[in-house]
Amino acid sequence: MKTKGGLGEIDAPARGGQLFDLITSDSSAAVALRHELHARPELAHREGPTADTIAAALAVPSRRVAGTGLLARVGDRPGPAIVIRAELDGLPIAERTGASFAARNGAMHACGHDVHSAALTAVVNAAATMAERLPAPLIALFQPSEEAYPSGAAQVVEQRALGQDIGAIVGAHVHPGIPWGSVALDAGPVNASSDTVTLKVEGVGAHAAYPHTGRDPILALAATVLSAEAAITRRLDPLASGVLSFGRLNAGRADNVIPHVAEARGTLRALSEEDRTLLAETIESVSTATAAAHGCDAEVTIDRGAPVLDNDAALVSRARDLLGAIGVGLSPPWRSLGADDFSYFRALGPIAMAFVGLQGAPDFDLRPLHHPEFLPPDAAVAQVARLQASLYLSAAAPSQLS
Ligand SMILES: [Zn+2]
Repeated sequence: MKTKGGLGEIDAPARGGQLFDLITSDSSAAVALRHELHARPELAHREGPTADTIAAALAVPSRRVAGTGLLARVGDRPGPAIVIRAELDGLPIAERTGASFAARNGAMHACGHDVHSAALTAVVNAAATMAERLPAPLIALFQPSEEAYPSGAAQVVEQRALGQDIGAIVGAHVHPGIPWGSVALDAGPVNASSDTVTLKVEGVGAHAAYPHTGRDPILALAATVLSAEAAITRRLDPLASGVLSFGRLNAGRADNVIPHVAEARGTLRALSEEDRTLLAETIESVSTATAAAHGCDAEVTIDRGAPVLDNDAALVSRARDLLGAIGVGLSPPWRSLGADDFSYFRALGPIAMAFVGLQGAPDFDLRPLHHPEFLPPDAAVAQVARLQASLYLSAAAPSQLS
């Protein structure tokens, strides 16, 4: 675990120990910041005041990126920087946690972004006190709009807001499906691609008592939804993963009128780019044919969202070694068809997203992400900070752990 380099002899767990000690000693400030962020959540693309609160808590200068995002850099050693990403936005959910610091503005940090951002602030402030001894420059990215399109991560990538020399991008997310005290960090696809599917079926409107004088788009749409759902189970390898779920159906305005048009909207998820393309083509061909069988026209639109979140194998392997060395338990492999726009950062370099377990945590009522009673305990802030620092250290000095 030791190597000679420009910094002299380095011991990764020992170096981590310094950083972890600093983070732990700062946890009361981080918890206070978490409460402040939690009490005043803002929706995607409106996180300016959240960014201001974090900027004021940071011990280093920061600048705005991608609209309401915030970027801070620690360390000026030459060489590639390691980016740690946290998210800024809340959700349009009325909070029901009953916490003393609960939000009262109709928005809510129901996805743990308050925890992630407070933790990253603690990491930056700890790293700033040992800036000249850091193995690589640390860039903290407080990203806007993870929960809504246009994606904040996509904007950061498009605008090249992180600069040129990026060694890796890492992130940590709390998760109630993973046991408290353990971390899930796995190579390969861990979150799905997420595309929006719109099926618009056009028929011929008619009096509801005389359906034969028109072409019923509601019947055609219903058949199309069933056919599309059935077809993807026949085209996708049963050992692979993908899902099509419709969340909206819209048609008609009167009980006794067959409308001209019916529309369904949903989400399409896959764990590989090949399956993503295969499923999109399947939906398109089956929908068109099914609607035609009912005398209607189907227009299928697939708006591509976040790509598959594909964790870099080498980065993950080094981070797992470091986590093991500092005594953090690793959970069994964890993947889901959830989506996170963190996946866009793959365009800039290797990425690794890890999940911090909440299940069984003290003072935590088990609730899913995005639930109005979802409230990670304050102790999660230090856990997330420690994981962010571990990911940074293992990405920054790969030779230490090889
Ligand atoms: Zn989230």
